[in-house]
Amino acid sequence: MRVVFVSSPALIKTIRISCVALVLLGALFFAGIFTANSRAVTSTGLPLSGITVVIDPGHGGYDPGVTRDNIEEKNVVLGISYALRDYLQTGGARVVMTRESDRDLLVLPTAGPKKKQDMKHRLFIIHSASPDLVVSIHANAISAPRWRGAQVFYNADCETGKRLAELIQTELANVLKNTDRQAKPGNYLILNEAGVPAVLVESGFLSNPAERELLSDEEYQSQLAWAVYLGITRFLNTPSS
Ligand SMILES: [Zn+2]
Repeated sequence: MRVVFVSSPALIKTIRISCVALVLLGALFFAGIFTANSRAVTSTGLPLSGITVVIDPGHGGYDPGVTRDNIEEKNVVLGISYALRDYLQTGGARVVMTRESDRDLLVLPTAGPKKKQDMKHRLFIIHSASPDLVVSIHANAISAPRWRGAQVFYNADCETGKRLAELIQTELANVLKNTDRQAKPGNYLILNEAGVPAVLVESGFLSNPAERELLSDEEYQSQLAWAVYLGITRFLNTPSS
């Protein structure tokens, strides 16, 4: 196990504010600055002390995501998210999950289609948490069964999000040893409106039989989460320039 120590509060603050211009969240922005300052004082010495991460397990409840051979994306991504939460909390991070069970997020009195309501509530949770970074976990499926491999997406307009995505992608390649995919820009609402560095991890293809079997396995889910955790720690400990 590699132990990485957290960077200075100044760096944390730099990471926090670098993507804020992407959204019109003035009030939350100032709330976030004050939170960052208070974190510096309450540091406990753990590697991720003072860091808040939102984990967004995709789909849930009425929405299973992609499904193959009775394996549902919503369950696979929740398993990975549990493992990631545990690694991050052990490292001292505060973790907020958009869901912790098989549920959707249709609870806000918001008009509009179900998917839109669900996504609005996810963004509400993200903004309320005032996080340092956001990780959304998903799984893929397409018609051709041969494609496989985990891949990380980022908002093309967010340099820090890109750096986070590339570091996680590198660790996925190192740990899993079964993907040579590269981190890639992606146009996703969660990434565009998070307001902080955010990545979407497509953990693999349920349409590939071998990868589907891996993604259903708790140990593999844990390895995947470990790779994401390592990428996050490298991101927080590496200067951006
Ligand atoms: Zn998905």
